[in-house]
Amino acid sequence: MEKRFDPWGSDMSNYESAFEEFGLSKFENRLKLNHYFFDRNIIIAHRDFDKVLERIKAKKPFIQLTGIATSGRMHLGHKAVLDLFVFFSKFKNSRNYFALSDIDAYCSREKIKTMQEAKKYAVDNLAHILALGIPLKSIYAQSRKEPRYFEFTFELSKKITKNMFDAVYGHVDLGKIQASLLQYADILHPQLKEYEGKMPSLTGIGLDQDPHAKLTRDLARKFNLELPSFIYLLHQSGLQQGTKMSSSRPETAIYLDDSREEIKKRVMRAFTGGLPSADEQRRKGGNPDICKVHEMLKFHHPGTKFVREIYDRCRNGNILCGECKQVCNDFISDMLKRHQEKVKKTRKIAEKFYK
Ligand code: SF4
Repeated sequence: MEKRFDPWGSDMSNYESAFEEFGLSKFENRLKLNHYFFDRNIIIAHRDFDKVLERIKAKKPFIQLTGIATSGRMHLGHKAVLDLFVFFSKFKNSRNYFALSDIDAYCSREKIKTMQEAKKYAVDNLAHILALGIPLKSIYAQSRKEPRYFEFTFELSKKITKNMFDAVYGHVDLGKIQASLLQYADILHPQLKEYEGKMPSLTGIGLDQDPHAKLTRDLARKFNLELPSFIYLLHQSGLQQGTKMSSSRPETAIYLDDSREEIKKRVMRAFTGGLPSADEQRRKGGNPDICKVHEMLKFHHPGTKFVREIYDRCRNGNILCGECKQVCNDFISDMLKRHQEKVKKTRKIAEKFYK
């Protein structure tokens, strides 16, 4: 049976044996940069990150690219990839491309019935993306891209066969094929001579997107481009046990525009690694490794020492879930309040961008 990653698990032992089989490299200390994602095993693997790191150290240009399918409200699960993009965009030598993937969202998401709907979400998503610190000049909407980009998607299509799609995705759905072609173009087009020219590029993705990354690298070979580098992030899981954080299931997610009341309700109902009684938990300690409250702090709290302390106190039975949830709720509520203040200003820029 074909081995697949569980991108929403947090147990590293699931991954280690699979890295070799999939040809991924583990993130050694020598490659780590000064961001907490590297220290907390949120970034867990890479393909050719060395090439990008060399460019960073040599102060030579490199491309970084990411994007978001504009198919719903944004939640905390989206934030990690965006935070990472902001981090790399601060290197003076980075050439940044951020795709608002409105056509992709329309073609590949069943629930998006019209292009207009995808664009409506794009305006909303853009306001949040700007508030998170993504530079406006790096952002483009697929539907507003220049002809060379679309011409390139046709060039890419000539190099892919139906069997290749079938092998990678297990289906040949026309909408999804179109969406995939745009995604390959998003990652590769900055290397065309009309843009930055051939050079290393970096994209942060989830492990579940690796087949897509491999196909993109195959295409780069066929166009004599630099093979794009990827770093692999864990996904933040949903707030309930065994769930993904999903735009269409509010109980699994905290949205970036949630009110204080909504945040509190969801944090208080989140699945924890606590024990049935306070007494038992004080004696035996809880399990932060399966706890969604701890996961929220791990992904979003900037203080590594603080997150570690909560972890240790939980393990030792020195903190109970009620107090811990309150700490998490206060932190997330304050963080999102500050974010929502910024969104009030960026929304006007987002509306103007799409006019
Ligand atoms: Fe999770 Fe905190 Fe409870 Fe530990 S004490 S299980 S980290 S909520």
